[in-house]
Amino acid sequence: MALSLLRQTRCLCTLSRTVLAFQSRIGKRSYAERVDIRGGSLEPVVSAFCAVVGDDGVSLGATVREQHGKDESVHSCRLPDVVVWPRSVEEVSALAKICHHHRLPIIPFGTGTGLEGGVNAMKGGVCFSLRKMDRVLDLHQEDFDVSVEPGVTRKALNTYLRDTGLWFPVDPGADASLCGMAATSASGTNAVRYGTMRENVLNLEVVLADGTIIHTAGRGRRPRKTAAGYNLTNLFVGSEGTLGLLTKATLRLYGVPEAVVSAVCSFPSVQAAVDSTVHILQAGVPIARMEFLDDVMIDACNRYSALSYPVAPTLFLEFHGSDRSLEEQVSIAEEMTRENGGSDFSWARDAETRARLWKARHDALYAAVALRPGCKVYATDVCVPISNLPQIVVETKEDLIKNHLTGPIAGHVGDGNFHCLMVIDPDDPDELQRVHRFTERLARRALALDGTCTGEHGVGLGKRELLREEMGPLAMEVMQGLKATLDPKNLMNPGKVL
Ligand SMILES: Cc1cc2nc3c(=O)[nH]c(=O)nc-3n(C[C@H](O)[C@H](O)[C@H](O)COP(=O)(O)OP(=O)(O)OC[C@H]3O[C@@H](n4cnc5c(N)ncnc54)[C@H](O)[C@@H]3O)c2cc1C
Repeated sequence: MALSLLRQTRCLCTLSRTVLAFQSRIGKRSYAERVDIRGGSLEPVVSAFCAVVGDDGVSLGATVREQHGKDESVHSCRLPDVVVWPRSVEEVSALAKICHHHRLPIIPFGTGTGLEGGVNAMKGGVCFSLRKMDRVLDLHQEDFDVSVEPGVTRKALNTYLRDTGLWFPVDPGADASLCGMAATSASGTNAVRYGTMRENVLNLEVVLADGTIIHTAGRGRRPRKTAAGYNLTNLFVGSEGTLGLLTKATLRLYGVPEAVVSAVCSFPSVQAAVDSTVHILQAGVPIARMEFLDDVMIDACNRYSALSYPVAPTLFLEFHGSDRSLEEQVSIAEEMTRENGGSDFSWARDAETRARLWKARHDALYAAVALRPGCKVYATDVCVPISNLPQIVVETKEDLIKNHLTGPIAGHVGDGNFHCLMVIDPDDPDELQRVHRFTERLARRALALDGTCTGEHGVGLGKRELLREEMGPLAMEVMQGLKATLDPKNLMNPGKVL
């Protein structure tokens, strides 16, 4: 008892000291503008947070704030003023009410693997780390669905499902939180067969900026389809923390395929690789993964992952099904690829070889960094109708060469979505400018080919102007109206998307 009291006193003393240090550090003006609105000081706000989540659920420490002010992008880090760790939806709601009362920005934080600066605290404010809400709830095996709290990552969910014969297939490579994935409308290598987060979220529990808790498809509901009212679920999927905090997601699950076969195949040209993709899809082969790597990317993967594939445009393929159906799928795909000049096939049936192959693909970003040690990668993505893919890839490669930029290309080619992994020296402002202009040209090329400026990474900080070009003024006005209705004080992740 005495020991616990002593610990508590120490904890509170430390907190008070940190609060004082924090007050002097953040400077009177910015603080006064945001927190002193009702003539109060920071201490009551922090005390109010502590009353909800306890002293250990609030941090003002610089290192913690730095960890929560940046993601995996090259956007510079903007620190939140405070980080909080709620453990339940009620706590999220209570904290949001305090922020709403004091007009403090709210920045939701999943695992920080985003690639467009989504967690940067542009106007300071409170970072809500949802890591401690990490329970898998309500698994319905017979209905193929499950609900998860926002701290559950995709790998943790699949580990939980290991003995059920079910899995969640959306796979952005990084071990992101499932609600972060919903917030960015993530997809990845399996989307050609299983869809993106948009197709796989059945319901969301959301805490709005004023602390109101809503369920986008009705509380506890999980039908496979619905024609009831506006599609609120998909309004929040891809909203990047600007409309509310996602505190629970109900997700579709799939049966683990009986058999899996992967393959790697090289092509004489980008056109030949993409033509094969189109032909395989047109033949109705239910292919699970179709990944394109250009010659620069496969070369980087060879070096980084100790592989020895030919340095040429390459497809990584994967087929899921029963043993019998796989035979048919594989033989059609092999025929189509050979007709398009594909060669150097290597097939992998055993789990270990497949895992090595896909690990190499998922490590593409790190393989790209290794091309220029000491540099960073700015991964930018666009998506076009699949028939326009060869044109945009060829033009983009010409652009890279002309501007002396290193940007290996890897793409979820079955969806017409691809990434340029721009390797840049962050200390070279001239190179940063050239890369910035390149990414804008790339996005505008995608728009000119009826595509989008981002297929899966989101708008975040970097693509707001491009979103306006993509949507046009009237659709933007509708988006702004929705934002103003749900978040009239503009507290949810301000400075992003719109
Ligand atoms: C090596 C690597 C490869 C990647 N490959 C892909 C890929 O193939 N496909 C792909 O789609 N992405 C890819 N990504 C990007 C990233 O993994 C996704 O954007 C992911 O969905 C981000 O999830 P997170 O939990 O890390 O979110 P964070 O980075 O923490 O946040 C991202 C955004 O979502 C908001 N947010 C987070 N959690 C919530 C919540 N609970 N409620 C409301 N808003 C929230 C944040 O405010 C922020 O705006 C890759 C990243 C890396 C590092």
